[in-house]
Amino acid sequence: MAKNDKLFMVIPCYNEQEVLPETSKRLKEKLNTLIKSEKISPDSRIVFVDDGSRDNTWNMIEELHKEDPIFQGVKLSRNRGHQNALLAGLMTVKDICDISISMDADLQDDINAIDGMVEKYENGAEIVYGVRSQRKTDTFFKRYTAESYYKLMNKMGADIVYNHADFRLMSSRALDFLSDFSEVNLFLRGIVPMIGLKTDVEYYERAERFAGESKYPLFKMLQFAFEGITSLSTKPIKIISGLGVFIFFTSFIVLIYSLIRHFTGATIPGWTTTVLSVWAIGGLTMISLGVIGEYIGKIYLETKNRPRYIISTYLGDKEDEQMLRDVKFLK
Ligand code: UDP
Ligand code: MG
Repeated sequence: MAKNDKLFMVIPCYNEQEVLPETSKRLKEKLNTLIKSEKISPDSRIVFVDDGSRDNTWNMIEELHKEDPIFQGVKLSRNRGHQNALLAGLMTVKDICDISISMDADLQDDINAIDGMVEKYENGAEIVYGVRSQRKTDTFFKRYTAESYYKLMNKMGADIVYNHADFRLMSSRALDFLSDFSEVNLFLRGIVPMIGLKTDVEYYERAERFAGESKYPLFKMLQFAFEGITSLSTKPIKIISGLGVFIFFTSFIVLIYSLIRHFTGATIPGWTTTVLSVWAIGGLTMISLGVIGEYIGKIYLETKNRPRYIISTYLGDKEDEQMLRDVKFLK
C-alpha cells in the first residue's frame, strides 16, 4: 500500500478539559514523527469529537484548530454517549481519510501502539484491534468484571475481541462497510468483527487515566454491558424459553406426585410449597417478561430510526467541509 496514506485520529471527548492539553500535545508529536519518517501523509489529522461537553472542552478544541490545522473538531449538538460520538467522528472522516484510528481521550490507550497499527495496515490488514496485554492498572474488581464479561459475551454468541475496547485502526473501506450498519442500539466492538476483511491485533499495555474522572461509573458500566448483550445476541430469550419448557415439564411431575399423595390419603396442608412456588414462578415470569420487553424496546427504537447523532459544527479543512456539505452530511 502507498506510504503516503492519510491517517485521521478520532478522539471522542466528554468533559475532558483536564486531559486535552496533554493528549493533543502527545498525539501531535506522534503524528509528526510518523509524517517525518514518511509512514503517513503530511495531510494526516487529529479529530476531536466533542460529545456535548459542559466544560471548556469545545473552546479548547477551537483554540487547537486555530493554532494548528492538524487539529480538527466535530461538535455534537448534545451528549449522545461514547459509541455515538465515536461513530459521528468516524463517519465524518470516512471519505476524507485513508486510515482512521479511534482512541479514548484520557491517554489510557498507549499512543506508541499507533506505529505498530500503521505497520500492520501497510502489511495488508484493514482492521487492527488494539488489545490490552494486561490490566495491571485497573482495580481487581474492574479487571474481574470486565474479563468475565468478555467470556459471557462469547458464550452468548457475540463475536467480540477479548480485551479490546475501542482503540482500533480501520481503513476507509472498512468504515464504508461500517456505515451500512444502521442500527440505533450501537455497540461498535460487536459490529466491527461482523465486517470481516483482513484483520490483525496489536498488543499494548493499558495505562491509568491521565487526569479527570472516568465517565463510566459502575452503574453506567453495567448498563453498557447489558446493552452489549441484548444488541448482539438473542440468547437470553432462548434461555427463557428453555426455562419455560423445563418448568412446564416439572409441573407434570408435581401433578403426578400430588395425585399419588391424594389417592393414598396422605394430603397434608402444603402451605409452604404453594407459597414458595407462587413466588418462584411469579418472579421468574416477571424477569422473563422484563428481558423480552428489553428486546421489544430495542425494536421500538430501531423502527423509529432516529438519527444517532447530530453534528452542529465541523472544524476541518475547507475543501473537506465543502465536500461533506455537498453530500448533505453537514447542514
Ligand atoms: N466519552 C464520551 N461520551 C460520554 C462518555 C465518555 O465521548 O458520554 C468519552 C470520554 O471522553 C473518553 C472515552 O469516551 O474519551 C472513554 O471514557 P472513559 O475514559 O471515561 O471510560 P473508561 O475508560 O473509564 O471506561
Ligand atoms: Mg478511560
